[in-house]
Amino acid sequence: MNTKELQNLTKKFEYVWDKLNPQDLKTAMEFSERYKNFMDSAKTEREAVFEIIKRAKENGYIDLNDAIKEGRKLKAGDKVYANNKNKAVALFVIGKEDIEKGMNIIGSHIDSPRIDLKPNALYEDEGFALFETHYYGGIKKYQWVTIPLALHGVVVKKDGSKINIVIGEDENDPVLYITDLLIHLAADQMDKKLMKGIEGEDLNILVGNQPIEDKEAKERVKLNILRLLNEKYDISEEDFITAEFEIVPAGKSRDVGLDRSMVMAYGHDDRICAYTSLEAIFEIEVPNKTCVVLFVDKEEVGSNGATGMYSKFFENSVAEVMNLKGEYNELNLRRALANSKMLSSDVSAAFDPIYPSVLEKKNCAYMGKGIVITKYTGSRGKLSCNDANAEFLGEIRNLFNEHNITWQTGELGKVDQGGGGTIAYITAEYGMEVVDCGVALLSMHAPWEIASKVDIYETYRAYKVFLQYI
Ligand code: MN
Ligand code: MN
Repeated sequence: MNTKELQNLTKKFEYVWDKLNPQDLKTAMEFSERYKNFMDSAKTEREAVFEIIKRAKENGYIDLNDAIKEGRKLKAGDKVYANNKNKAVALFVIGKEDIEKGMNIIGSHIDSPRIDLKPNALYEDEGFALFETHYYGGIKKYQWVTIPLALHGVVVKKDGSKINIVIGEDENDPVLYITDLLIHLAADQMDKKLMKGIEGEDLNILVGNQPIEDKEAKERVKLNILRLLNEKYDISEEDFITAEFEIVPAGKSRDVGLDRSMVMAYGHDDRICAYTSLEAIFEIEVPNKTCVVLFVDKEEVGSNGATGMYSKFFENSVAEVMNLKGEYNELNLRRALANSKMLSSDVSAAFDPIYPSVLEKKNCAYMGKGIVITKYTGSRGKLSCNDANAEFLGEIRNLFNEHNITWQTGELGKVDQGGGGTIAYITAEYGMEVVDCGVALLSMHAPWEIASKVDIYETYRAYKVFLQYI
């Protein structure tokens, strides 16, 4: 072999930018505009479910519960969605083949790291009203102080009615805020480790400073806040206990870079994979295999609970769909799950030239080099990982190459540096083939995370061919 032939034996990962023609590039940029709109309206898992179902209905999807009530028979090309307590949702497009032969599944999560209010949140201290909080998921606490914050939540009132509250997103709204110590008085704080610089119990939200008129009353600032909340939302302090209030960064997603090549948003992890898989399934009409996109909650805290991946919701929904297709029995259900193929669509860490030491350059993902296939996650010796099978990776590789998808491989950090997990190992318990496959990010889990516009587009394209052809 000559040198050229020998060089062809090496594997090079290319930039999506170099592979898209001008028309495709324009389409990719337009796609990221739609993505930003979605992100601005879906900053919590509940808002994401609302937006997903709204769009699903516009695309001809019907509620699985309605289909069950009406005793509808499902056939190839029918589209249904299953809503799990307004916090998780699954979309199905019924295929021509029996479901028993397996489904093509893409699963992402729609919860993101954030700060939750405690049940007894509101208190007063030295003329300030504040909210007590308990953060949700892995955050670097120091990143959440002195930035504009918004409150998104739902309150279940005494009479059982439910209201949604969003404060801090409209430009005329006030924002919420967590203070930090002025540098002049921070000598002790600055000596601490980053981990301890801002403590969890100190992530208290500043919500007011104006007392009620009655000078004799106690806790006058707190009472004023309660009055404002009561006037606007008809709620009292006890209603905080039957509420879910989430504190997220206030504001909209933005283009990043003078060349506008990147998107900054809250919650790319993992609504970037949610949105791309949603757009992908909307392109599917009458597939051979039944296609599913799954959007789950609670991934950032271990996937437990009725709305997390560990719950039986997905399995139960598949059973219901099979039943309406006249295919259900216990054995068929088990076969359907075991014969399925799944992309666990979650984000990966992109190489950051400012922090080169934590990733191993030959095996980490790079922004702009397309969708990331991550064979294994885990930490300290692949602990708790789903290590995807070479045979399945082979299928994915051929599929992506055949359809000219720009893809790369990723690894969540150097060996012994840290690590993490996704929902992959949970669905793998059914015996289905699963591999992690998603978008590489900078500043993952920060209030504002960064993604490449071409990676977003390429991920959508990859998900579409996976649903259609795997
Ligand atoms: Mn994730
Ligand atoms: Mn995460």
